[in-house]
Amino acid sequence: MTLPTLPTTAEQLAGPMLPAPFAVRAKRRDTVDTWTLALEPCATDTFPFAPGQFTMLSAGGHGEVPISICGDPDHPERLVHSVRAVGLATQAICETQPGEVLGVRGPFGRGWPLDAAEGQDVVIAAGGIGLPPLRGAILRLLARRERYGRLVLLYGGRSPDQLMYADELRAWADQGLEVLVTVDSAGPEWLGHVGVVTRLIALAELEPARTVALSCGPEIMMRFVVAGLTEVGVQPPRIHVSIERNMQCGIGHCGHCQLGPTLVCREGPVYPWSQVERLLAIREL
Ligand SMILES: Cc1cc2nc3c(=O)[nH]c(=O)nc-3n(C[C@H](O)[C@H](O)[C@H](O)COP(=O)(O)OP(=O)(O)OC[C@H]3O[C@@H](n4cnc5c(N)ncnc54)[C@H](O)[C@@H]3O)c2cc1C
Repeated sequence: MTLPTLPTTAEQLAGPMLPAPFAVRAKRRDTVDTWTLALEPCATDTFPFAPGQFTMLSAGGHGEVPISICGDPDHPERLVHSVRAVGLATQAICETQPGEVLGVRGPFGRGWPLDAAEGQDVVIAAGGIGLPPLRGAILRLLARRERYGRLVLLYGGRSPDQLMYADELRAWADQGLEVLVTVDSAGPEWLGHVGVVTRLIALAELEPARTVALSCGPEIMMRFVVAGLTEVGVQPPRIHVSIERNMQCGIGHCGHCQLGPTLVCREGPVYPWSQVERLLAIREL
């Protein structure tokens, strides 16, 4: 009888709880409080991931936080994150400079159901910092453009200067993504739509029976997006949302991200709306 090999090195013992060193290679400011960092692994060559997955990211001793991977899944040699500085950990991550090293664990969670959406129209509804978790999906959809029907992005921000990836929105439109953008409020220089993102749903003239929807943003926004989509006939199982919960381990052990019977870090963060609607309606969860 052969005995199982037991973990011996610190790396084996720590497993997915041990952060790997990644060097910051490039840094760009997107909005007043949001930065996009491109990282490269110091110890491995690539970091394969599925669009919609996240990592646990840390800078120095300032804590570890879940951040969606927003890079191109066809280029896993670069790990890209867009981070809004809202507190200690995210502030420290945003302050890192090219050449400095961050800790990365992951990738974790389940991503967007892009394979299942093949042959369908895909509508993406994002609000504010909800666009980064969808960026990898957009890049993947555009890279396999011929496998899908219409590709539509409905994107809303608080004001024009809060919109993420302004240059890329134009480039994506040139590649076949129908891009509709709105802001809550704007000065006279803004010539686009003003109003909440749900207003764009009617303009998109969707064919509900062949539409798959992906949405990320504040929970209240996703609720209204789902209401707007179901109103035009898109069935809840065809609508997928990415939800945020307080996370610590990322691997389904600590239970911090429990939402009823599901652990968001492991079974999410992407869920069909039909699976989480009832759970999100319960305040205590
Ligand atoms: C799966 C997942 C993916 C995420 N992807 C991204 C991303 O791509 N980019 C990004 O900038 N952020 C993302 N977040 C949110 C990010 O994890 C939080 O902003 C971060 O944990 C805040 O930590 P902090 O120590 O900087 O701030 P804290 O001091 O912990 O919090 C500062 C403020 O932010 C609020 N906050 C804390 N955690 C969250 C949270 N999870 N959601 C909403 N508000 C929160 C607090 O209530 C407080 O008001 C994601 C969260 C999850 C769960």
